[in-house]
Formats: sequence, structure tokens, C-alpha cells
Amino acid sequence: MADNPRWRRFDEWNARPLRHDQFAAEDPEAGFATFHSPWDPSPSARVENGSVVEIDGKPKADFDIIDTFIADHHLDPDVIEEAMAMEPTELARMLVDINVPRERLERLARGMTPAKLASVVATMSSLEITFAYAKMRQRRTPGNQAHVTNAKDDPLQLAADSATAVALGFDEVETTMRVASNAWANAMACTVGAAVGRGGVLFQCSIEEAEELQIGMAGLTSYAETVSVYGTEGAFLDGDDTPWSKAFLTAAYASRGIKARCTSGASAELLMGFHDRQSVLYLEARCLCLQRAMGVQGTQNGGIDGAPLTASMAGGLRELMAENLLAAWLGLECASGNDTRISESEIRVGAKITPYLLAGSDLICSGFGSIRNYDNSFNASLFNGEDIEDYLVLQRDFEAGWRADAGK
Ligand code: CA
Repeated sequence: MADNPRWRRFDEWNARPLRHDQFAAEDPEAGFATFHSPWDPSPSARVENGSVVEIDGKPKADFDIIDTFIADHHLDPDVIEEAMAMEPTELARMLVDINVPRERLERLARGMTPAKLASVVATMSSLEITFAYAKMRQRRTPGNQAHVTNAKDDPLQLAADSATAVALGFDEVETTMRVASNAWANAMACTVGAAVGRGGVLFQCSIEEAEELQIGMAGLTSYAETVSVYGTEGAFLDGDDTPWSKAFLTAAYASRGIKARCTSGASAELLMGFHDRQSVLYLEARCLCLQRAMGVQGTQNGGIDGAPLTASMAGGLRELMAENLLAAWLGLECASGNDTRISESEIRVGAKITPYLLAGSDLICSGFGSIRNYDNSFNASLFNGEDIEDYLVLQRDFEAGWRADAGK
């Protein structure tokens, strides 16, 4: 039987890196739904006496903490009627029309509920989403973000690797640690390294929220972006948080001139077991409306820790692009969720990054491991130190992306 060519074919497939990837069937009841779930609401909004009294089929009396925050701080009563009356396909066409200014679309987004926003991007193909993302992104020139960590939390190596990341052209450097008590030493080391050379490179140290804030207040960091928000009340309360507590935290950073982003991404609620049977796109639209409502400058968005789970679903990579488009449409600077490795297949990894290279993004990778995979204390990234030259060649091939001149 071993000589049967049919079996040899299976043996060859089994030897491919793709063999390690997992693929999930569509199952909305269990939370495995990308763009649509039967439990997603239809878009609606109603205003009475200048305040929002209905969102996506839900009257004010039934609002949860997320609806309440979105009604009070995201939705603009002066825009709701006009924006909610528009057809999703009309709005989608405006997103891909170079003759429609992005300011006009950003204004309309302020009058749209989460279900409405989701209904628009759900009509768009991957190519249309990529084009619209190029049009709607906030920064004129794409940037990139590096993970600088090491397995031994060695301060000297961290300082040297931070300086190397600056030399490679990364605009933001972030660290975390294997041993929590090393947080301050790691922060000191990386902030010194990140100050070498070009200047203007921002640095953050990711650790438990209270300590991260203390490190920021001490002047050792210049941005913070791991302020996580969620699309269901259950996920928020499980983390002992509310939209108000998260808004307070981001305001604390901003008050000291520290750049603040929230973090959200598809499948976070699914990972935590609080998905409410709704599609990951709809839940993410709620997260992003919430972030705009908080007044935060930007978002680290697009799967993040849930990206491998989202990538296991059909249409998952298109969904990750779609939620990034929502972020840009809502006026948030977006560090695109190209951090956690979503696949063992180098073909899938190269395919995942290509639309971002073509469109450009404010920060193309929300965590490119500029150090080796082994030293990456966040997790293995989509790209790590071993892959830097491959990545630079992709930029050279397309003449696109972060530091498009690098590698020529
Ligand atoms: Ca990041």
C-alpha cells in the first residue's frame, strides 16, 4: 500500500507547514461567524429630543453598557437620519470612489450604528476593502512597529536591539517581559535604545495596566496601546472593566502627553466565551464605535490575539481587513493587527501581509518581531527577525509599504 501514489500524495501534503493550521466550520451559534450571524441585529437608530433612544433594534430601556456609551458619545444626532437612510452599497461605492473626500465619509460614520457600519463593509470584496483602506488611512506615510524583547530580559541586549530597530526604520518599539518584576529595567533599557539615532521613535512597555500607567507617569514610555475593549458586556465585566474605566485610563495617558490607543480585534469575545452568538465583524464594529466615543487617538486593531482563530474561519482574512477599514473610517489611527502569527504556512503569511503593503497602513504591523522568534516574549509574530529580509524584498517587489526605499 505504501507504493500507492495516492498515499504518497497524502504523505507530501502532511509534510507541508500548512498541515499545522486549523480550519473551523461556520457555526454562528458557537460564535464562529465572520460577517453575518442570525443573531446580529438589523441596523436602526432613533432620536428623540436630541438624544438616541434606539440602536440596532434595541430600545433605550434595554441598552447595555456598550450601547449606552455609543448612544451618548459616538452617535451624532445631527448626522444619524442622513447616514442611516443611505444604502450600504451606496456607501461602499463612496468608499472606493477617489472623487469622494474622506472627510465626507468620516462625517457620515459619526451617524452610523455598529450594525450599519458592518453592513457596508460586508458588501465589499477584499480588493475593494484594500483600496478603501488606502484611501481612508490617517497617516500619509505608512509606519511600522517592532517587538523588542528577549528571553532573558537582559537590559543591555534590549537597549542594543531597540537601537537596531530604530536603525531598521521602525517608528514605534514595544517591549514586554518574561518575569513581571523586570518591567522597569526592560522599560529603561528600551527607552534608552529607542532614543539612539533618528530620534522621534515612540516606545511602550506592555504589562498589567496599573503598573504600565506608573511606568508611563515616570516618563519611561511615550505611547500605550494595550488598553483592551470588547464588543460584549460579558467580556468587559469579566475583566472587571467598563467603557468608562477604559476611557479614564486612556485619558490618564493622554493627560501626560503619552499617545494612547485602545486594542480590539475579532474573536476576542469568542476566545473569552462571551460572543453572544454574534458575528466577529458586528462585535468589532461595536468595539470601534466605542473607541471613537472615548476620544482615543487610535487603535491597535485587527484580530490581535484572536487573529489565529479568525484566520481559521472562511473569509477570516477578509474580515480582518474589513475591521481595519472600519477603524480608519471612524477616524482612528490604526496599527493593523499583523502581530500574532496566524499560520505556519509561509505562503499564507506572505498573502496576509500583501494587501497591507499595497494599501499602506498607519502602522503596517502592530508588532513585527525585530528580534528572533525565540526572543519574542509577546508570542511568535507574523514576521520575526528571521524574516526581515523576506519582508524587505516584498517591499522592494511592490515598491510599497513601510520605508519603501529600504532594501533597494
Ligand atoms: Ca503592538
